[in-house]
Amino acid sequence: MKGRSTASLVASLALTWGAGPGLGRDRSGAAKGPRPTITLRVVNEGGIERGPLKPAEKEAVRIFSHSGIDLVWLNCDPGQAVWGSGNPCQRELGPAEFWMRIVTRRTAVATADMLGFTDLDESQDHGSAGVYYPAAVKMAAQWHATVGEILGAAIAHEVGHLILGANAHSPSGVMFAHWGRAQFERIGISGLNFTADQARMLREGVERRTGKAVAARR
Ligand SMILES: [Zn+2]
Repeated sequence: MKGRSTASLVASLALTWGAGPGLGRDRSGAAKGPRPTITLRVVNEGGIERGPLKPAEKEAVRIFSHSGIDLVWLNCDPGQAVWGSGNPCQRELGPAEFWMRIVTRRTAVATADMLGFTDLDESQDHGSAGVYYPAAVKMAAQWHATVGEILGAAIAHEVGHLILGANAHSPSGVMFAHWGRAQFERIGISGLNFTADQARMLREGVERRTGKAVAARR
């Protein structure tokens, strides 16, 4: 039996977005209009087999849906963009749209047990993030959760940073900073989610971004 280990999720740059005005949603996230939507352009940089990606998508979609947010998952090819093509991965990024890399090599900012990372770009109000596939495989071998479920939950955690900033960690839920047995066991029973407060801040964050983009186009 291996000893207990944790995987830490780090954000590489400290940055906090200010809280915006509330938009009149109830606690369940039920909205009168369409739900706030986040789009992920997922790039399988490590060329891993696609088997775990569908369950990863399912788990990430479930976690955001639990918070009243629709997640659109685009499988995008690595490589150069061809502007003007009809490929949704190659259009200009939307206000609540992010690149999400699935990598098999550690980045420069990685710590030994890193599961995910976020690069926040203050000037452009856009960041990108990634998850480290070998760490998900290692954790899945140790705990009762699948590789896909762990990847999906780690992706949700990093998207949490992209919307809520580097200081978005919480004492419970999917934004807990250092994952160990409790988190992986909850992942296995679809029990790792954003807290109610974070869900509200995420919905407001997405709506603020989308509203700002609409105002800028006027
Ligand atoms: Zn984190």
